[in-house]
Amino acid sequence: MKVTTLGTGWPLPDAARAGASNLVEAGGQRFLVDTGRGVLMRLAAAGAGMGQVTAVFLTHLHSDHVNDFNDVVTTSWIGQFTPGVLKVIGPTGTQRFVDATLAMLEDDICWRLDHHADLTWRPEVEVTEVTDGVAFEADGVRVLAAPTEHKPVHPTVGYRFEHEGAVVVCAGDTVPCDGLDRLCAGADVYVQTVCRRSAVEAIPSPRLQDILDYHSDLVQVGQTAARGGVGTVVLTHLIPPPAPGTEAEWAAEVAEHFAGTIVVADDLTVVEAPLRSD
Ligand SMILES: [Zn+2]
Ligand SMILES: [Zn+2]
Repeated sequence: MKVTTLGTGWPLPDAARAGASNLVEAGGQRFLVDTGRGVLMRLAAAGAGMGQVTAVFLTHLHSDHVNDFNDVVTTSWIGQFTPGVLKVIGPTGTQRFVDATLAMLEDDICWRLDHHADLTWRPEVEVTEVTDGVAFEADGVRVLAAPTEHKPVHPTVGYRFEHEGAVVVCAGDTVPCDGLDRLCAGADVYVQTVCRRSAVEAIPSPRLQDILDYHSDLVQVGQTAARGGVGTVVLTHLIPPPAPGTEAEWAAEVAEHFAGTIVVADDLTVVEAPLRSD
């Protein structure tokens, strides 16, 4: 199993970092986790298209995690030559969000149906809303969801991918909580959206200070990883984007609390699981 950080940026546009998204590959299946800005460009760079994606998982419906969801819907529809179903798994509210996205796309859908004689079907999106427990299971891959803590955004979930004994966790935006601890228990790879508290506090913007209370900071990521006994921590959704050359400082803050491997991800960083030697 491997995970590729498709987008490691924060909510603001960044020339080097796309919006929040990860690609998990396991047992011949590919899964997108979140669909932030630029997701399909980065998926193409990772060598895949929507035709190879088995399912899309959403951690929550904050705009920076779903900016390009409409692109995922349209591209998976017009990119296929036979009718297909886009499987979307997300927290309660996902069906309403998908319905609204399809309504927003309605004119475009009609124009394409009018124009292409061989396109005779509408986009079909199958939504599964999840809270806690098994979110997906097929061909040896099991995905567990658990509630996370990102108030006032509610509900939010994280995901634990399991395949042949290997475990990859894509946590999404959350502070430490019981659900996150359950996902991370014994994980080989723990991918966490993160903020660097000292760097945020140095920016004189009240709106930026607000984000500190609903994201894990580097210390909290290290503590969560240590509690779970995880093998590798992958830092993503980096708030604020690290100044070039300061990535080692981010890792060092985590390392004060966690003895395992720490990866400060760029877009398209690949981490394989399992990585443990024991
Ligand atoms: Zn969020
Ligand atoms: Zn976010």
